Amino acid sequence: YAKKKQGNNIQLFNSALVSAFHQDSEIERELHVAIRGRQFELYYQPLRDLQTQQYIGAEALIRWHHPKRGVLYPGSFIDVAEQSGLIGHIGSWVLEAACKQLNLWQHHNINLSMHVNVSARQFFGGHLYEQVWQLLTRYRLKPRTLILEITETELMEDVIHATNMCKELSELGVGLAIDDFGTGYSSMRYLKQFPISKIKIDRSFISDLTVSRESQEIVSAIIAMAKALNISLTAEGVETCEQEEFLSGCDCHQAQGFLYSPALRSPDFNEFINLEDKLRDEV
Ligand code: C2E
Ligand code: MG
Ligand code: MG
Ligand code: MG
Repeated sequence: YAKKKQGNNIQLFNSALVSAFHQDSEIERELHVAIRGRQFELYYQPLRDLQTQQYIGAEALIRWHHPKRGVLYPGSFIDVAEQSGLIGHIGSWVLEAACKQLNLWQHHNINLSMHVNVSARQFFGGHLYEQVWQLLTRYRLKPRTLILEITETELMEDVIHATNMCKELSELGVGLAIDDFGTGYSSMRYLKQFPISKIKIDRSFISDLTVSRESQEIVSAIIAMAKALNISLTAEGVETCEQEEFLSGCDCHQAQGFLYSPALRSPDFNEFINLEDKLRDEV
């Protein structure tokens, strides 16, 4: 009986795997169509300076307008894009679209920085430096207004290669941010050795900030460390005033989250920023 049961389990396990595999190859097939059919769009989420209470930047977040399934979030396709290598095309498109938008802002004297997520394959793939250099030139961007975000886990995949990449990219003058900080394993030594300009504290530490003593300790330790290393700091996923109060109390520079705004389409984002400017001028 035990053997029979085990056998069934294996079958179950296999069919789950097989169906996941079919799903992934379906997504991969559709991603090809999406790239050719321009089904992607960048949404922008504002970043707020907690001292001046002004918006100082935006993070570009990709959305997929799927012809049948509506708007898809990166969580449902970025991994497949990464594994299939399609992230190369998608990532290049993202960088270009973000730089084009940044150029428009600079043209209209809107002083915002643009944060762009890059995946490990893009970061270590060998074309990033060249690509960024070309885009900075083509769109006449102030290099420091472009900030590339890479997750802590991906950055630590190959420390030596990562150190070189960070050095090269920072020579171009662009900013580098470690995304989802606190979920990977980077030591103080690496942080000192990477020319990193910013750390983004992972959302998981912010969400229970006002109820978990541990998260409070971790967040204040990260803030103290960033200060010691002279690295700027953004807290991700700020949803409540209490979370914001705690963060400003610890001298955290910047915050991003639904408390201010979710990621918006470009026209809505511009309207949001304009409205905020007007409201501030009236006060
Ligand atoms: P991330 O870079 O850490 O981006 C922040 C994510 O948190 C975004 O999810 C954003 O919508 C969400 N978020 C922001 N504020 C809040 C909040 O207050 N509460 C909650 N619950 N969530 C909040 P999104 O857009 O679904 O993106 C997920 C991840 O996908 C990103 O995490 C990033 O790692 C990746 N990603 C997004 N766009 C791109 C891209 O263009 N290229 C690459 N390679 N990865 C991307
Ligand atoms: Mg990010
Ligand atoms: Mg993050
Ligand atoms: Mg993330």
